[in-house]
Amino acid sequence: MKITSAELTISAAKEEQFPPGMFPEVALSGRSNVGKSSFINTLLARKGLARTSQRPGKTQTLNYYWINNRFHFVDVPGYGYAKVSKKEREAWGRVLESYFQNREQLKAVVQLVDMRHKPSKEDVMMYEWLKHHEREVIVIGTKADKVAKGKWDKHAAIIRKELQMHEDDKLIMFSAETGQGKDKAWNAVTKALFN
Ligand code: GDP
Repeated sequence: MKITSAELTISAAKEEQFPPGMFPEVALSGRSNVGKSSFINTLLARKGLARTSQRPGKTQTLNYYWINNRFHFVDVPGYGYAKVSKKEREAWGRVLESYFQNREQLKAVVQLVDMRHKPSKEDVMMYEWLKHHEREVIVIGTKADKVAKGKWDKHAAIIRKELQMHEDDKLIMFSAETGQGKDKAWNAVTKALFN
């Protein structure tokens, strides 16, 4: 996809702040440090747009990127941060629950997992939870350049098995370093947004 414009428009801390129009969106989710910002920047061909390695403990918001005047990417904060209080975590959990359950504009969730390792317990829970809400999930195995190509199939099989992935959901090996998987990721995202 040719990107003609991409900018961060809203950091939404609660439902009232989600954009009201009916433009389609995909959300991007994964544990912190998985390579989510690098994935967003690679797809959008904008180096510093999504900040890489954001500091833990800051305010949790859904960051809306408005792209080509047609759709949104929604950056969901990385899970696995422990530096907020239990109360804050619960309140944020309710915002996310309602977002993934009710948001009509949301066409698919891109879930990023580090392809070098077996998915974490949190990765498994996240995937299961998204399927519980009947969301289409596009799984991205990040940092593919760190794994020899001959081992990709084996790593892919482990990810599919551990997440108990639905057959219809795609798994794409991706590297922000080499651009591997960029076209496949765009194909999957475009299909979800506009079909
Ligand atoms: P985020 O916290 O999920 O947004 O992760 P970042 O995009 O900030 O990436 C975390 C770290 O992993 C950074 O040091 C990145 O340079 C590195 N990283 C991200 N993607 C890749 C990749 O495809 N290959 C390699 N080798 N490193 C990556």
